[in-house]
Amino acid sequence: MTEPIPTPARSNLVGASRAELAQLLAELDPRPFRAEQVYQWLTRRMAGGVAEMTNLPKALREGLAARAEVRDPEIVETRRGSDGTAKLALGFADGAVVEAVAMPMEGHTTICLSSQTGCAVGCVFCVTGVLGAGRNLTGAEIFGQYRAVLRHEGLVGAPVNVVFMGMGEPLLNVAGVARAVELIAETVSPKRVTVSTSGIVPGIAKLAALERRPKLAVSLNATTQAQRERLMPAASHWPLAELLAVLRAFPLERGRRITFEYVMLAGINDSDDDARRLPRLLKGIPCKVNLIPLNPDERYLGGLAAPDETRISAFAGILAAAHMNVTVRWSKGREVAAACGQLRGQIALRPPASP
Ligand code: SF4
Repeated sequence: MTEPIPTPARSNLVGASRAELAQLLAELDPRPFRAEQVYQWLTRRMAGGVAEMTNLPKALREGLAARAEVRDPEIVETRRGSDGTAKLALGFADGAVVEAVAMPMEGHTTICLSSQTGCAVGCVFCVTGVLGAGRNLTGAEIFGQYRAVLRHEGLVGAPVNVVFMGMGEPLLNVAGVARAVELIAETVSPKRVTVSTSGIVPGIAKLAALERRPKLAVSLNATTQAQRERLMPAASHWPLAELLAVLRAFPLERGRRITFEYVMLAGINDSDDDARRLPRLLKGIPCKVNLIPLNPDERYLGGLAAPDETRISAFAGILAAAHMNVTVRWSKGREVAAACGQLRGQIALRPPASP
């Protein structure tokens, strides 16, 4: 019996740039509009396979399908909350699993994407941080995540906002995130895309240098360097003064502001003194402050709790009295552990089943 001839692995079209597609198509049909057609199928119409690209001649589709395929990460689990939030676990070829969330809002859906398979920043209030570091996702993998969520949730062509607030620190993976933002920009303008960072100063500087910048959110969570280092160990690399300096220099398009996120932890960072220090720290930065009461998680974040509503209102009141733009964000998706800081808690890293 003869051995079957192994077929060479086909490349993945998802995440390819126009130039890469032109190179791939060079032998089949080198006319630039063909590469553009394929690019549009992948980035706008979210085609699930070459066969769907019906404005290409049949021979071209066959030639392309012999060389390449359209491969998004596999959706390995879905959870849905009664508020309509969907949390999806997505698996990649190397076995890595990340989580993404689709949250229905008024007039649009917000899609929350992961940029890494874990997180080395180690924020004590975040399930991903507690579970440890992972690898960077490539731009193509992040874009594949976006496509998979749109296709699975029936959102192709629907109005969406995108936030990089899932697993990982996006600004420890600027190259991957920038590539994904560029691909996503075919359907969502960068002014509807937000990158949320724990305050990686060199990453913020790189983001500032991008031609089409997404919006910036900074997870602050503390009003002194010592307090910040206790809550976010990686903050020891970038003192608060250095972080605020790079934010003051961050170029903001007309009407844009930097969002500061402040996860509220009872008895830790919720005092009146903290509330009074915050406006002084952020003076001169066009910004708004999102207060996010902690999403408790008994298994991973035991011992941490959200302040009660009276404390949160008092804190918000001090900020408002100092003329700060402040909102309290009661997270959506709590019941499926899809709220801020809860990703990777229940799907991607379930404790192994007992033998
Ligand atoms: S909050 Fe963000 S930066 Fe901090 S550990 Fe979690 S994923 Fe990482």
